[in-house]
Amino acid sequence: MRVREAQTVTEKWRFQCLRCLRVWEDLYQARYHGDATVWWLSGVPAQPPWADPICPGCLGLLVKALPTGPVVH
Ligand SMILES: [Zn+2]
Repeated sequence: MRVREAQTVTEKWRFQCLRCLRVWEDLYQARYHGDATVWWLSGVPAQPPWADPICPGCLGLLVKALPTGPVVH
């Protein structure tokens, strides 16, 4: 088995709360380890952006997550 360096891609995700209509964005880092992808947010491991995002305004769970694409450095 060959060990390859993990590839990290920064992606910007836009979220919209369907309850209070708040819109916000977060920068996620996706680290690809072979077939597995590990998501990071603000320097800590996180759930994938589409997995049960919570609205920071009303703590609602009806949140739509939209990828806006990779961030080019
Ligand atoms: Zn909300």
